[in-house]
Amino acid sequence: MVEVQLRGRGILDERVLEAMGRVPRHHFVPLASRAKAYEDKPLPIDCGQTISQPYMVAIMTELLQLRPTDRVLELGTGSGYQAAILAALASKVLTIERHEPLAKSARASLGALGLDNVQVVCGDGTLGSPLDAPYDGIMVTAGAPDIPAALVAQLAPRGRLVCPVGSREAQTLIQITRRGEGTVEKKGTACMFVPLIGERGWAE
Ligand code: SAM
Repeated sequence: MVEVQLRGRGILDERVLEAMGRVPRHHFVPLASRAKAYEDKPLPIDCGQTISQPYMVAIMTELLQLRPTDRVLELGTGSGYQAAILAALASKVLTIERHEPLAKSARASLGALGLDNVQVVCGDGTLGSPLDAPYDGIMVTAGAPDIPAALVAQLAPRGRLVCPVGSREAQTLIQITRRGEGTVEKKGTACMFVPLIGERGWAE
């Protein structure tokens, strides 16, 4: 997976490659599709959601440019796999999932790997988590109609945010970096995520 799907397609950040080589992806995949855990595609998980394609996890993680001291917010815990990669690269991760069964099983999967720097919270993440802000990195792993303003406000100076933005079916990855009082926005690759549902996302 790392050599062919990630390095072979231009993922260059050695810390990201090392983390994705070390965190056991099969541990986050439901038993029924565990044999496909390292294939080049997203896979179904409970509650009609998905664990993202490894390449997309790598692209988004690379865009966050994480340092070991960084504090990170993730919206859309799903299986917990992306949170585990973030936890391997940063000091603290807060991840929010709107489906309680997913939050519960992600908590168990992360705990079983001894990743004690991740907190999983159940709720609508579209307002972020102001009490724990600011964050050096914010990653949204569901497709949003636009970037929730509350998340941009919770970025630390020079903080980075990555979010798929577009329609319910297809999006473009957007990277936002806080610079002084303003932000710099860059457009990235096309992608297809399940919708971000909530107060500042899509209607249920
Ligand atoms: N990062 C996940 C992983 O590693 O398995 C994959 C995420 S999946 C593509 C998107 C997740 O976002 C789903 O689990 C979905 O329930 C969740 N989600 C959608 N809207 C949300 C919201 N407003 N707040 C929190 N989670 C949300």
